[in-house]
Amino acid sequence: MAAESTTFPLSAPSAAAPVLHDRLFDWYDRHARDLPWRRPSTSPYAVLVSEVMLQQTPVARVLPAYAAWLRRWPTVGDLAAATSGDAVRAWGGLGYPRRALRLHATARAVVARHGGRVPSGIDDLLVLPGVGEYTAAAVASFAYGRRHAVLDTNVRRVLARLVRGEAVAPPTLRAGERATATDLLPREPAAAAAWGVALMELGALLCTATGPACTVCPVADVCRWRAAGMPAYAGPPRRRQPWHGTDRQCRGRLLASVRAADEPLPRSALDATWPDVVQRERALAGLVADGLVEIRPDGAVGLPG
Ligand code: SF4
Repeated sequence: MAAESTTFPLSAPSAAAPVLHDRLFDWYDRHARDLPWRRPSTSPYAVLVSEVMLQQTPVARVLPAYAAWLRRWPTVGDLAAATSGDAVRAWGGLGYPRRALRLHATARAVVARHGGRVPSGIDDLLVLPGVGEYTAAAVASFAYGRRHAVLDTNVRRVLARLVRGEAVAPPTLRAGERATATDLLPREPAAAAAWGVALMELGALLCTATGPACTVCPVADVCRWRAAGMPAYAGPPRRRQPWHGTDRQCRGRLLASVRAADEPLPRSALDATWPDVVQRERALAGLVADGLVEIRPDGAVGLPG
């Protein structure tokens, strides 16, 4: 194992912070992707849209959906004036479509409570529909330049390896991760916001889940995981969410059919989407309960009005 002085000082991560900041900012300046939501002209609402879309969907799939969404609803007021069904339809195939409902509900809440201006304070953001700790910190930091630790999957993985020498981050966010991330933040708020983006980019481009590119990593010489020989994850097995044959897949097919139709569909039109009638009915009931579709008085199935 490398000598302690050549790896990350676990007992005092902030001692290494200035070096990390310089290295990562330099790397980011040369290698970062030009993503539209990072441009200085991006509105807080557009940052919010991007963050909600990126929560569970890869960048490549988000890019066209983000552009189309903002063409259609360039301001939070435009989205608030639409129906929730319009939002679900425009969400298209991004997956986890309840995000569309929550984003729409958030737009209405922003108009009602904040006069159409996405709030900048964490407490105001956290009470918006579907806005959790990560999204609130991301909007406050990236849209308003506030100093917050922004801990998405990529950042948590980078810090787990770099600081703690572990292959993966814990299944759920721990207080210690927050403390470490906060400890490493640059003092100046704008620099702290830039640091969050740079860490994310390192996790997305180099320190990936399955193939970390350590040989070209700007912080490889201080990385504890690398110095320890990159030990494999040794914890309990992590459950992968199945997809084929699940109610989730069935829901996706049903919703895609309803979304593709100009008018509400007769219920029988959904029979061909999924052969198992019991599972189909259960999935449909779930979509109704979630507010993603409605059963009209004549029995037809449509998007919410
Ligand atoms: Fe990740 Fe490898 Fe860089 Fe460590 S050296 S932060 S494991 S890419």
